[in-house]
Amino acid sequence: MRKLSLLIIILAISSCSKIDENTLTIYSSRQPQLIEPLLESFELETGIKIELLTGDAPQLLQRLKSEGGMTQADIFMTVDAGTLWQAASEDIFHPIDSKILEENIPSYLRDSEKRWFGFSKRIRTIVYSKEKVDPQNLSTIEDLASEKWDNKLCLRTSRKVYNRSLLASMIDNLGYEQSKSIVKGWVNNFATPVFSNDTNALKAVAEGPCHVTIVNTYYLARLLDTGKYDQLEIFWSNQSNRGAHVNITGAGVVKSSKNKLNAIKFLEYLSTKEAQDIYASLNYEFPVNTRSELNDLIKKWGTFKEDEIPVERLGKLQREAVKLAQEAEYF
Ligand code: FE
Repeated sequence: MRKLSLLIIILAISSCSKIDENTLTIYSSRQPQLIEPLLESFELETGIKIELLTGDAPQLLQRLKSEGGMTQADIFMTVDAGTLWQAASEDIFHPIDSKILEENIPSYLRDSEKRWFGFSKRIRTIVYSKEKVDPQNLSTIEDLASEKWDNKLCLRTSRKVYNRSLLASMIDNLGYEQSKSIVKGWVNNFATPVFSNDTNALKAVAEGPCHVTIVNTYYLARLLDTGKYDQLEIFWSNQSNRGAHVNITGAGVVKSSKNKLNAIKFLEYLSTKEAQDIYASLNYEFPVNTRSELNDLIKKWGTFKEDEIPVERLGKLQREAVKLAQEAEYF
């Protein structure tokens, strides 16, 4: 009898450790429906089970910090280079050496210290109303500060990390003072107070007093997909100089993960052509793997020049961007 119960205990322990090894826990600030199909195909291919915990980025970051070495998290996945950079500077990530990730992801879309990697590109550019704007008058985001856009420009709040990263890219390219005078010009040209999100800014261009805005292109794609916003049109900004602003969604392996090999395997899988075809198109984003296909809707927008500033610079300049927005009274 004693032998039998000992055997049961041993079996229980070994099955527990087996489950543990074969389970990956991802903390993610992405909407679950945007990654679940990929998690399922990874599970099928490898037999590794994935537990997904979703929440907003600051909340998850706080949780990772307070859980410290006790965390269950193996991977932290989020949006915007600004957030990834912050997580890295708070020592959340373990650096990864992976030939596959380095081959599949261009260097400007990942951390030079190998702590986080971009898995899709999001382009922040100009959208205008075809009924109100002649696209011949459009050129760069800086030009939206000129007098011809007086009372016509609408923007989302600078409190959103997307706009902080956009300002960071301007500071990197033009310097602090010139960027500040441009942002002051934007504020002077505002047709409305700032919006809390990109979708409402777009709707105000389509149906409200605004003529032009700057948004992430997937918000435009979602509205176009409803068939109700045909008056909205994309314009690739800054094609005559640095190119349109690029940001990323990305992820890294958590420092105290007990499952680093499988975590790396998952990130490598995410960077493959097959996974990229799905990952980027689920949210009308752009794949980082250049062999990957574009979603049909965004393919129609044509090719364009990207600002290839290393996205980690967007993180490093976050604080300056916040200060600039305050000083230019862009709230
Ligand atoms: Fe977004």
